[in-house]
Amino acid sequence: MNGIDALAARLRTEGLAVLTDRQELRTYECDGLTHYRVVPALVALPQTQEQCAAVVRACAQAGIPFVARGAGTGLSGGALPRADGVLVVTSQLRRIVELAPEDERAVVEPGVVNLQVTRAATPYGYYYAPDPSSQQVCSIGGNVAENSGGAHCLKYGFTTNHVTGLRVVTPDGDVVSLGGRAPDPPGYDLLGTFVGSEGTLGIATEVTVRLVRLPETVRTLLAGFGTTDQAGAATSAIIGAGVVPAAIEMMDALAIEAAEAAVHCGYPPGAGAVLIVELDGPAADVEAQFVDVERFCREHGAFEIRIAADDTERALFWKGRKSAFAAVGRISPDYLVQDGVIPRTALPEVLRRIGELSREHGVRVANVFHAGDGNLHPLVLFDEAVPGQAERAEEVSAAILALCIEYGGSITGEHGVGVDKVAYLPKMFTDDDLQTMQMVRCAFDPAGIANPGKVFPTPRLCGEIPGRHRGAPPLAHVGEVF
Ligand SMILES: Cc1cc2nc3c(=O)[nH]c(=O)nc-3n(C[C@H](O)[C@H](O)[C@H](O)COP(=O)(O)OP(=O)(O)OC[C@H]3O[C@@H](n4cnc5c(N)ncnc54)[C@H](O)[C@@H]3O)c2cc1C
Repeated sequence: MNGIDALAARLRTEGLAVLTDRQELRTYECDGLTHYRVVPALVALPQTQEQCAAVVRACAQAGIPFVARGAGTGLSGGALPRADGVLVVTSQLRRIVELAPEDERAVVEPGVVNLQVTRAATPYGYYYAPDPSSQQVCSIGGNVAENSGGAHCLKYGFTTNHVTGLRVVTPDGDVVSLGGRAPDPPGYDLLGTFVGSEGTLGIATEVTVRLVRLPETVRTLLAGFGTTDQAGAATSAIIGAGVVPAAIEMMDALAIEAAEAAVHCGYPPGAGAVLIVELDGPAADVEAQFVDVERFCREHGAFEIRIAADDTERALFWKGRKSAFAAVGRISPDYLVQDGVIPRTALPEVLRRIGELSREHGVRVANVFHAGDGNLHPLVLFDEAVPGQAERAEEVSAAILALCIEYGGSITGEHGVGVDKVAYLPKMFTDDDLQTMQMVRCAFDPAGIANPGKVFPTPRLCGEIPGRHRGAPPLAHVGEVF
């Protein structure tokens, strides 16, 4: 009996649901980044937190790598399985353990879908603020691992600002608590380290999140501009004046064309760019600031401004934006979703340069993004059937990330490094930076079995001394002592 067969037998004896049939395993061969595919050796579907810990403990004892998976909507291949490993699927861990509006907290299992937290909290006058466009399906565990963002993170912050506590199964199968219900515990910020660690430090089995009071008023405006330059300038003017909208989202002409084809959102005809600006808060503040926002949009060239009259119209404004990634499938057989960040003020210049790249390579690029955060999502369109187009799309996609670094930004805003951007990490960080990050990973996972091969370009064994240093780096022994 090989190691995987023995592991499957052991887990079944312990009452766990496991899949070993190749056809069933194929269901899990990729996440939202479908061009990477690996069939896992085994899928485990724990129903309880204890079962999740039991799977990890068994993997640790057998020296078998494991990969956590939530809903599988990740766009960087983070939940891509290992052919020699176990995929631990958390979708059955979907209990809302506690709703405590009086403490502004909810305690949930990792498989709970993002939007369900808001749905559960709304009757009490609260909601969960981080809202990835995938919020109808993505899991809170995946959000924690990716430090996910969304349209409303401009005002409210990313996942890391809304998680106060975690229960985590460490890669050796221990169960530990990081943080708690109260903010800012003493000691190193291990909670902050775990959020955004992309499944490389263990599996979160319980998450304590902040609940935010529903605002008294929400007002949403849709502005049509001739160019992305104008829309970018309006964005900077709004934020520069001290207005902090809940969201400012931009779509360019190609993204609008795709959204219209898919969901008929009725954006202003002929627009080279649209902005969706949403303000929320006390009614008096919102009313006053809304006047300013309208004025800034007009001053920077908006030729049409629509104000949502009710929730139905507001939902229609958002429908085009939230469906934009999938909508691009209507105007192109294949596309790459890129994710990078730049300082907001660089938006007009970087968008111009993306346009140049697009023309030089003969590849169309649709831009839809969180303008307020400077978080770009260029969608690089191509047709796999046309020889050379896929390669040119890859070149444009890589060049866009290089632009983000050139302008002082980052190679990922919210989708993570996963397997997709492993090669780009050294373009942002020095060898010493990467070595230090590896040491943190080693402190949690000395055996290197938690989602190996993700995030880091040159995974070193814990305790291995990198060649270019003389003598041991300060923490090189860390893997031996843990
Ligand atoms: C149409 C679409 C729109 C999207 N829009 C946004 C957006 O606006 N903002 C945004 O940030 N992202 C967005 N995403 C990306 C994706 O939805 C997020 O990254 C999301 O957080 C992934 O959650 P998931 O449950 O699908 O995780 P998965 O894809 O299953 O896993 C993602 C990573 O998390 C790890 N992981 C999963 N669960 C756990 C756990 N319990 N403990 C430890 N590690 C774990 C996995 O190993 C993997 O590395 C979008 C994706 C799609 C398809």
